[in-house]
Amino acid sequence: MSLIVQKYGGSSVADAESIKRVAKRIVETRKAGNEVVVVVSAMGDTTDELVDLANQVTPLASGRELDMLLTAGERISMALLAMAIKSLGQEARSYTGSQAGLITDARHGSARIVDVSPTRVRAALDAGAIAIVAGFQGFNRGTGDITTLGRGGSDTTAVALAAALKADVCEIYTDVDGVFTADPRVVPTARKIDRITSEEMLELAAAGAKILYIRAVEYARRHGVTLHVRSSFNNNEGTLVVNPTDGESVEEPIISGVAADLSEAKITIVGVPDVPGKAAQIFTIVASTDANIDMIVQNVSTAATGLTDISFTLPKSDGGTVLKALEDNKAEAGFDSLQYDDQIGKLALVGAGMRTNAGVSAKLFTALFEAGINIEMISTSEIRISVVTRADTINEAVRVVHKAFDLDGDEVAQVHGGTGR
Ligand code: ASP
Ligand code: MG
Repeated sequence: MSLIVQKYGGSSVADAESIKRVAKRIVETRKAGNEVVVVVSAMGDTTDELVDLANQVTPLASGRELDMLLTAGERISMALLAMAIKSLGQEARSYTGSQAGLITDARHGSARIVDVSPTRVRAALDAGAIAIVAGFQGFNRGTGDITTLGRGGSDTTAVALAAALKADVCEIYTDVDGVFTADPRVVPTARKIDRITSEEMLELAAAGAKILYIRAVEYARRHGVTLHVRSSFNNNEGTLVVNPTDGESVEEPIISGVAADLSEAKITIVGVPDVPGKAAQIFTIVASTDANIDMIVQNVSTAATGLTDISFTLPKSDGGTVLKALEDNKAEAGFDSLQYDDQIGKLALVGAGMRTNAGVSAKLFTALFEAGINIEMISTSEIRISVVTRADTINEAVRVVHKAFDLDGDEVAQVHGGTGR
């Protein structure tokens, strides 16, 4: 008997009909002789609607009350799903995050899981029932309060339960057929990837691929959980995200995929004295804002001035805070001025096989050059090359790079929902 954790995103349980459809699928999995734990998101856009509602009441809601409000979304879908399953003659029990033993720290709105003790979930399985768990929520022992894991956190709930219950697989159900070589909305001929390493998946998620949340992939990688990303709208095999153990030889394609991200901006600090300690000072200021910065570029200074420029990228949502922190410390840090650019796009090419293949960068830059696209920043890891371009050229950039690396498939990819979640 296998233990399977299935996670259904909001688009898979958007209305009563969808809930019944998903219930059938869950019952089939149970009838095939598996133990089944289901993690469910809030129906459709419920979470967004609840956020809007809170904002109409007050823009200054406390984290505690916001979490109390938002966790209601998942409680609705878990109860309805349990009812739907029972009406099909199968036993099902729903649990909130705290009932399921998801213990977190106290950070409302972005809590981290610190312990998972799914005693009641295990007991439900032992009694032959299907356990349904509300995604995205937990409980802090110190404050005794309900927390949420941050938007999209149900993936993380599913992976954490899969790890704690030693599940054979954690299936992430969504409205596309799996992980694609590029966003099928941008590249219609993008191909579904059958198998990808968690290392590559992490790079793609970090680079803007929205199919899986980075925290969930990280958690799966750390705990050796195998993920299967697949569509809840058909029975096709999706994408397996695997954790090859050290020494296991996997045949790695040179390139797995291309991701793009339009949510970042670039800050350039002009006229930084080129002396030891300046980068430390500047990035200590930046770090004090908690912003998640990404590419950092600095050149040697021109001999005549002894000054250099430093550029880095960061989420647009952190732009204002970071600019202010730098401006406030300008005299002390000793730079000339700041430039802010929120019209950038970031493209990342990811593939474990690039570790052992020369010429990948050259091919990428050539493809962009031939399309007349200017590269503004470049950064690399062992298995990724990222470039920054103008925002309005990013989709074209993804298409030409996808083509240059022969990633195009023969068919047009099917997209069911529209959000990819
Ligand atoms: N319902 C939450 C959200 O929309 C959690 C999730 O969907 O994973 O962010
Ligand atoms: Mg959702």
